[in-house]
Amino acid sequence: MRKFRLAGCSALILICAAAALAGGQFFDVTQVADGVYAAIGKNGAFCNAAVVVNGVDALVVDTHLRPIWAHDLIQQMKGITDKPVRYVVNTHWHPDHVQGNEAYVNVFGPTVEYLAQHNTREDMIHKAIPSIQDSLRDVPEAIAKMEKSLADGKDAQGQPLTPEARSALTAQIADQKAYLGELKQMKITLPTITFERSLYLHKPGDRTIQILYFGKGHTRGDVVVFLPKEKVVATGDLVTNGIPFMRDAYPVEWVSTLEALQQLDWAVAIPGHGDVQHGKEQIGRLISFMKDMVTQVKAAVAAGKNLEDTKKAVDLSSHAPDFPVYKTPAAFQRTAQGAVERTWMELSGKITD
Ligand SMILES: [Zn+2]
Repeated sequence: MRKFRLAGCSALILICAAAALAGGQFFDVTQVADGVYAAIGKNGAFCNAAVVVNGVDALVVDTHLRPIWAHDLIQQMKGITDKPVRYVVNTHWHPDHVQGNEAYVNVFGPTVEYLAQHNTREDMIHKAIPSIQDSLRDVPEAIAKMEKSLADGKDAQGQPLTPEARSALTAQIADQKAYLGELKQMKITLPTITFERSLYLHKPGDRTIQILYFGKGHTRGDVVVFLPKEKVVATGDLVTNGIPFMRDAYPVEWVSTLEALQQLDWAVAIPGHGDVQHGKEQIGRLISFMKDMVTQVKAAVAAGKNLEDTKKAVDLSSHAPDFPVYKTPAAFQRTAQGAVERTWMELSGKITD
């Protein structure tokens, strides 16, 4: 009943909000509960945010890869509230969730507090900030490759560029040059308040915002932002529209972290990537995939299989229909193999941090 009322109320508000919010270049902003908004990336902005508007201030969850995207969202937020952003939550350390942090302190001043789990702050210092240097090497290389392709008139496979491909490549080069300009100036603002398991914000109007850590998962510091009254959760990359990126993950522990998240009483999830999720179907699919994968990899490791043999032995193809975001079986298989590799490393004691 509660779920139905919330959904009906959202639909009504959404019509009003759509008119007020038109013009945002990089986000589709929709209201998912009273004062709670999902900002879903578009036009190349592939990472989401959640916005919670309180009585006297606002809270934003995650800040994207590029500061210009964060600034675009700040502009768009003016259509929904005149309250200043006082809190920024970083769900984890990955660059596409923290590199826009500085936009908020630049616009709203030094009273903005940045909230994260202890491990996330450490990983921002030791991984996210150094990764800017990697990007400063990688992005110019990517630009040079694209410029060569344009000059040669051929794509990576040696096929002649169509006029459409040529204009897409030209736009991509301009886009990456702009990103390079941002990277050269970038200073990631670090969390100012950190915590181990949970932090609650109690706001006027019976608004409680719970920031919760359930254990390792997509990284060793993922938190979710949960609004119990509104039954909304922002999940970061613990849940996305596919199988989340595994390179820094702890897949074995991730299963119990996801089960704890599933137990929370929420009806709407704003994921780190992909569309708003209504209900728990997607998290159920992800848990099912993860459990099957971990069980199979455990059996392979117990049988003494090395990584290559483990990859050959594990069969996850029955889960492919649950993740239509992968357009081909090969794309699903690549992602699943990445998950198998990281799980094999975890179970073989090869993850050191
Ligand atoms: Zn991530």
